[in-house]
Amino acid sequence: MHPDLETLVDLHRADVELRHFDSELLALPQKKAAIEAQIVADRAALDAAKAALDGLSKGRKHLELEVQDFEAKRSKYKGQLGEVKTNKEYTALLHEIENVEREIRTREDEILEAMEKGEGGLARVKSEETAFKEVEASRRDEIRAIDASILDCQTKRAEVAATREKKVVDLKPDLLAEYSRILQRRGTALSEAKDGACTMCHVKLRAQVYVDVKRNDTIITCSSCSRIMFFSAPPPQGALEAPLPH
Ligand SMILES: [Zn+2]
Repeated sequence: MHPDLETLVDLHRADVELRHFDSELLALPQKKAAIEAQIVADRAALDAAKAALDGLSKGRKHLELEVQDFEAKRSKYKGQLGEVKTNKEYTALLHEIENVEREIRTREDEILEAMEKGEGGLARVKSEETAFKEVEASRRDEIRAIDASILDCQTKRAEVAATREKKVVDLKPDLLAEYSRILQRRGTALSEAKDGACTMCHVKLRAQVYVDVKRNDTIITCSSCSRIMFFSAPPPQGALEAPLPH
């Protein structure tokens, strides 16, 4: 291969790799943030379930205090039964006692309902908490793996960038200018020729052009996309096979 073309191919491969690392370095932190957001959302849901359970138990305590108050009232009214002078007052007191007892029954029903809900809720919150911890642990593992990938990408990117710098120095200024111009316009400056066509714009090459490109000994651009063409020779067939017997 012509040394200039070889340098261009190296530069091209470095740029393709750099672009890959750049997109990874953009995507990986986003992926990490999405996982972190899931952890926060799950924890918020768990906290809400715990708060609801807490509210239920507070409500029950409040009902129990009310029952105590009504029971005290009932005792007081019952004590007054022996002290009233008239039938009318007696009937009125009995009526009050009935009212108080109805209030007590209503609250006792509510307390029972709250207890049942609380028991179910406690079991549910406990299993949700276990599930949360398991999922959180695996998400933390994912985040650690992403952090490792980010570091790996940054290291490899720096290596490729250093290699690119060296290649740039090797390249003749006019070729570098042409390379940069095509890169800016097309996103990639080189295109591999394969099966008689440009692999980037898929336009078929004239037979003679393809033959020339395959020689890799001069700079030829695609007539359609203007990318600089190169040819990668397939690995020699049977290279690893045992030599034929004489
Ligand atoms: Zn092309």
